[in-house]
Amino acid sequence: METSRPRATSGRHYLQIPGPTNCPDEVLRAIAAPTIDHRGPDFQELGRHILSAIGPVFGTTQPVIIYPASGTGAWEAALVNTLSPGDRVLCFETGHFSALWKKMAEELGLVVELVPGDWRHGIDPAVVEERLSADREHEIQAVCCVHNETSTGVTSRIAEVRAAMDAASHPALLLVDTISSLGAIDYRHDEWGVDVTISGSQKGLMLPPGLSFNAVSAKALRARETAGLPKSFWDWLPILAANENGFWPYTPSTNLLYGLKVALRMLDDEGLENVFARHQRHARATRAAVEAWGLEVLCQDPREYSGSLTAVLVPDGFNADDLRATILDRFDMSLGAGLSKLSGKVFRIGHLGAFEDLTLIGTLGGVQMGLNLSGIPIKQDGLEAAMAVLEQG
Ligand SMILES: *Cc1c(COP(=O)(O)O)cnc(C)c1O
Repeated sequence: METSRPRATSGRHYLQIPGPTNCPDEVLRAIAAPTIDHRGPDFQELGRHILSAIGPVFGTTQPVIIYPASGTGAWEAALVNTLSPGDRVLCFETGHFSALWKKMAEELGLVVELVPGDWRHGIDPAVVEERLSADREHEIQAVCCVHNETSTGVTSRIAEVRAAMDAASHPALLLVDTISSLGAIDYRHDEWGVDVTISGSQKGLMLPPGLSFNAVSAKALRARETAGLPKSFWDWLPILAANENGFWPYTPSTNLLYGLKVALRMLDDEGLENVFARHQRHARATRAAVEAWGLEVLCQDPREYSGSLTAVLVPDGFNADDLRATILDRFDMSLGAGLSKLSGKVFRIGHLGAFEDLTLIGTLGGVQMGLNLSGIPIKQDGLEAAMAVLEQG
């Protein structure tokens, strides 16, 4: 691609993909400290601190297991600890990530019942109730939900999914992927009766990639006793046993845990309610810009708008990847690509993690200039519309 000036290199790169997100300097400084003996007393203090401080961000007082792995590992952990070969699970086609998790379930030997979707809506609680009510023999062992579908910017209403399961009086486990919602969008593991909450470090938690999580209910721990899928590294039991003393059964990601300690403190200092409100406000301002440009947000149900990211459709005849390349080249900003069937059709603006008003304005300014440079016809009112939302406080 030809441009009239060299790629911007001075100053900060704008990493506005919906994860990994920007890490606060304080987190990076913590991670840069020397690694310590993971069997020594200083580590034990760190481990105990983190294991006692991590619950609130999941909305739980139950155990949270931490893996030195990407979020994909925590998907596998949730399945192999609770299910047996041939078990039926109910999955929903909400987008790219739900499709990957479904594929994993099949590769592990589970039988997936898939509710198809159009990648513009979240999980329909009425369909959950219908499918589970029809399962009179209670063959479905687990319901697998992606809370915030990062490929589409659609957030499913997990409290309503829980209510639908209760309305059907169905005993299936509820497994929820919160990899791009934890620490960004309101989430309540205990209150919503979730059995395993899956998450990762590199999105709302403002850390680099490399840690992932399973928050587990008492019912999930009971399921572990009879779950027949093979497991070793992912097995909850040895980890929970070592965690009793603040340790892990193997070498943990010591330096990422330094960062996690700081990130949890930052979220607590801001207050989770305020963190969620900040994300919703930035999402509102972003949608105001998109609408004022005359473009379309992918998510079609206002109840499901994502606080973490906004996926924007480019008009027919234009390629979103060309737009992203122009923005990267000219303004040193990375935006999220359209994934699988959305490839080239959407770009995704990440507004989660460590993020503030002026970063949003910078981000949207880069998008508006990029749209103009790409010849995509827009009205020039996007930034004004976003600023009007932010000025309201
Ligand atoms: C990022 C993401 C994943 C994948 O996590 P990795 O850390 O890349 O393994 C899975 N699900 C959702 C919803 C995500 O946003």
